[in-house]
Amino acid sequence: MTAPSVQRVTVLGSTGSIGTSTLDVIGRHPERYRVHALTAHTSREALHAQCLRHRPDVAVLAGEEDAAWLAARLREAGLSTTVRHGEQALCAVAASDESEVVMAAIVGAAGLLPALAAAEAGKRVLLANKEALVMSGALFMQAVERAGATLLPIDSEHNAIYQCLPREHRGGLERHGITQLLLTASGGPFRTWEAGALEGVTPEQACAHPNWSMGRKISVDSATLMNKGLELIEACWLFDATPDQIQVVVHPQSVIHSMAAYQDGSVLAQLGNPDMRTPIAYGLAWPERIEAGVEALDLFTIARLDFERADEARFPCLRLAREAMQAGGTAPAALNAANEIAVAAFLDGDIGFTAIAEVVAEVLVHHTVAPADTLDAILAADAEARERARACIARRFVHGEAGARP
Ligand code: NAD
Ligand code: MG
Repeated sequence: MTAPSVQRVTVLGSTGSIGTSTLDVIGRHPERYRVHALTAHTSREALHAQCLRHRPDVAVLAGEEDAAWLAARLREAGLSTTVRHGEQALCAVAASDESEVVMAAIVGAAGLLPALAAAEAGKRVLLANKEALVMSGALFMQAVERAGATLLPIDSEHNAIYQCLPREHRGGLERHGITQLLLTASGGPFRTWEAGALEGVTPEQACAHPNWSMGRKISVDSATLMNKGLELIEACWLFDATPDQIQVVVHPQSVIHSMAAYQDGSVLAQLGNPDMRTPIAYGLAWPERIEAGVEALDLFTIARLDFERADEARFPCLRLAREAMQAGGTAPAALNAANEIAVAAFLDGDIGFTAIAEVVAEVLVHHTVAPADTLDAILAADAEARERARACIARRFVHGEAGARP
């Protein structure tokens, strides 16, 4: 047997939850992977520590001053890492000939252009940044196809479904005998709360997820079930499914990561401990398997698996996302943008928890759906939705409506 060749990996968003888990898996397999580039927004200290450990060729930060600071520290340490800054630099490292694999783990719309650049350059794209696909699904999938990129979903549910589908699964689920995709959801920290109690939820409570340790934005999305809504849209694009072919199943233990139902009555599931290093290792090594540092699943400790329906009355974000996907075109991009602004306002203490869905609903009501066939159309819808969401929040804030800061 010949030794596998070393793959050069770029990690976009390396200082985040997914980014650090990715570097953990890579660090376990120095004979298979080498880090080409690491990128972060403003966390220069964390990026500095990662550079000392992984010695990348390139590091990218958003700001010029932070980049100068990092460059000076790395020179002092005797590293030859090139430090760059800004969005163009992000897109350039994503598309660079110096790496074969790109982990897209920036959070939110900020990750769209670099993720798309990686797809257009024909990379093996490990996609954690679901917002990129929500915004630009058709364009993104076309870019993957045209450039011959390999797109591997890292979101645990989509990674699970990917593992449960035949290798060739494009062209519609029916063609492959699949009747339904069962997208599991933990239900978040407020699954059992009364509707009335949700009003007073704090950011700390919303970020304390029962099963997964994640960045703050996705933690809030998990609590509102917008995360499941974004994932429903993501699944439609990845697996050529329609929204009604996807059923959300609340499964509080987060042991089954999702399932595919076939016309012969078979339901295939992927199980595991809730640890993102499993889907990350799968994406890195596919079609092989590598050790991920994840403890073996002990079914006797878990003892039982529960399932229930999602309650869209208490958690309207799931319904809003499904409706946006059904509306098509730029509606999902508007939904995503409004949600990003509303979640940031909630985390800043400017609006209450239940206002997140209200802001998104208001933005969608006013959004004029256009075809999402160019990047310009998508970015214009994103900008307009952000503007409208900010205006809606400002109105609430000024009038001191329920949920707003006194
Ligand atoms: P995080 O907040 O922990 O990390 C985000 C990373 O992106 C950081 O490195 C940050 O520096 C960088 N970043 C943030 N804003 C940026 C900007 N404007 N420009 C450039 N870089 C920027 O987030 P996370 O939890 O790791 O999630 C990352 C993505 O993966 C999200 O899209 C999330 O939905 C998805 N995801 C995460 C998990 C999880 O378990 N954390 C699971 C499934 C999917
Ligand atoms: Mg997920």
